[in-house]
Amino acid sequence: MKLPIYLDFQATNPVDQRVLDSMLPYFKEHYGNAASRSHAYGWAGEEAVTKARKQIAKLIGATPKEIIFTSGSTEAINLVLKGAVEMYPTRGKHIITSLVEHKAVLDVCKHLEKEGCEVTYLKPDKTGRVSVEQVRDAIREDTLMVALLWASNEIGTINPIREIGALCHERKVLFFTDGTQAVGKIPVDVEKDNIDLMCLSGHKIYGPKGIGCLYVRRKNPRVRLSAQMDGGGHERGMRSGTLNVPGIVGLGEACEICRIDFEKDLEHGRALRDRFEKQIFDKLEYVYINGNKEHRLPHASNISFAYVEGESLIMGIKDLAVSSGSACTSASLEPSHVLRACDVGDELAHSSIRFSFGRETTEEEVDFAANQVIEAVERLRELSPLYEMAQEGIDISSIDWSGH
Ligand SMILES: *Cc1c(COP(=O)(O)O)cnc(C)c1O
Repeated sequence: MKLPIYLDFQATNPVDQRVLDSMLPYFKEHYGNAASRSHAYGWAGEEAVTKARKQIAKLIGATPKEIIFTSGSTEAINLVLKGAVEMYPTRGKHIITSLVEHKAVLDVCKHLEKEGCEVTYLKPDKTGRVSVEQVRDAIREDTLMVALLWASNEIGTINPIREIGALCHERKVLFFTDGTQAVGKIPVDVEKDNIDLMCLSGHKIYGPKGIGCLYVRRKNPRVRLSAQMDGGGHERGMRSGTLNVPGIVGLGEACEICRIDFEKDLEHGRALRDRFEKQIFDKLEYVYINGNKEHRLPHASNISFAYVEGESLIMGIKDLAVSSGSACTSASLEPSHVLRACDVGDELAHSSIRFSFGRETTEEEVDFAANQVIEAVERLRELSPLYEMAQEGIDISSIDWSGH
């Protein structure tokens, strides 16, 4: 077993060997510019890009022309929000999103607010889920777009995307979903799910980093976006720049593997997640799952451990590569904005850990991880006076700490 054990698959994935093999010839052998029309090097590049476009489109139920390559989801999110505001100046400047979005969406929205847009940030329920009714109540005459996360990168909660999409179509509002964590993990079909715009990213689905794409609907309705980068007019004018052919080949292959191995990956991830949670819950009291138990990514588990201090817990599980509820936003020790929006108290937010299980994670690794967590929590709780009081049945919230 290689230590530390990687259980941070919502942050990034290794490149699948099959993906890497598919990419390698496009660095030194077939290195042509996919836009070079006058020779065989260019044609080989273009052919590879065409194939990848088909593979990606097939996974998400789109047509190849609806795929616009970007450097990843962050860029796609910038293009979608800023590009729509610029493209449709007369449709209104109101955007609906939620408090539990990825920072990429929240930061672009903040930027747009400075430029005169109005943004409604929906507060989800305690499981991090936004309801169709909330969106319905928030839509106004001047609403341009609804932009909502499909599946949360922190707590794995899955939003009712199909129903929200149907509502947006009925109300003629553009519907964008950040599908970065959903694609390849749960069924995604841009037609059935009523989606106009969706981003995905290579490195979250065992493809390379620095490549992703934006799905842009071409009919019913036809959606257009103003380019955010000028020069050359690649990608139907929406995103200029020489195409990253090896990256695109890798993204295509990654999508193809996700499609073919879909059931297998899903069951594998779910079985490991359930195995992990069972051990934790069998052995430890006062542990809480963050997120929605019914509507949750199958390979993900975000757990708060009461009566332990977050930093000490992370130190105590050194052999596990995981993320904590406070370390997510770079160096700051702020509790995660997602847990805060779900009304998880600061203490529980700080002692929360995000675990996720990958394509090559083994049962042996899961058992090792569960054991290490259990031992660390038990050890830390032995030192905790609060835990002792809880054991004695004292309700800590009833204590008057002021000493009066
Ligand atoms: C990782 C992630 C992003 C950012 O994707 P990049 O391709 O790394 O820019 C955006 N949204 C979600 C939900 C993510 O998980």
